[in-house]
Amino acid sequence: MRPQTADALILRTYRYGEADRIVVFLTEDRGKKRGVAKNATKSRRRFGGALEPLTRGRVAFVEREHRDLVRIDRIDAPRSPLRATAGRGSGDGAHVLGHASYFAELLDEWAPEGQANERLFRLGAAIGEALCRGGSVEALARYFEYWLLRLEGVYPALEFCPRCLQPALSSGAVLVVGDWTYICETCAHTAAQLSPAAMRFLASAGARTPSEVTEKGASATALREIEHVHHRLISLHLDKELRSARVVRELRPTS
Ligand SMILES: [Zn+2]
Repeated sequence: MRPQTADALILRTYRYGEADRIVVFLTEDRGKKRGVAKNATKSRRRFGGALEPLTRGRVAFVEREHRDLVRIDRIDAPRSPLRATAGRGSGDGAHVLGHASYFAELLDEWAPEGQANERLFRLGAAIGEALCRGGSVEALARYFEYWLLRLEGVYPALEFCPRCLQPALSSGAVLVVGDWTYICETCAHTAAQLSPAAMRFLASAGARTPSEVTEKGASATALREIEHVHHRLISLHLDKELRSARVVRELRPTS
């Protein structure tokens, strides 16, 4: 019953009765937790601006005996991507919020309940920081998906084609869903889904920081190719389609 504090990322919240909210948060060293924030809709002093997805802050909470839900007393020093980017121009807010929700939903799916995963926390925190600073949100999203799959050890090999063993994937690749591999155009007998530009982005993702990725970006076409492939991999890995992934697609301006 002793009070605790933890560096945490807010993943999502939902209503609980009249004025309370349930908050799902990912701590650095104690895994994912959920708790009740009493009077959250009214108390700006304790929770002001701290409940948006991917906000990072110090969460003060109390574990309660025989209860799954902790009691959240306050969230200090919150840093929210949505607030950090507010007022940057029309439409930006919805774009950032859509992606913050998407990133938080992915973290929620990836994080086991009550089991610490510091690498996942650090990745989420770095992505939140990069989102606060601005730049190419789409490039950041593809980078994040790459790293999530890689942390699970399930990202398909990028170095060579597993069928012909030629290091030919840099000239384009096709995803073979059943084999969970990328293969070359020659072996696939079809045009590449991932162009050389998309393969260059993926090949460099392992060695780059989130800030480098948002600053440099990549062509819209290459990012769209990667998005398509990543969403297949992620929905197969999780055995479901993420709600926020659909929202992000719907928010995108049609071109
Ligand atoms: Zn091949």
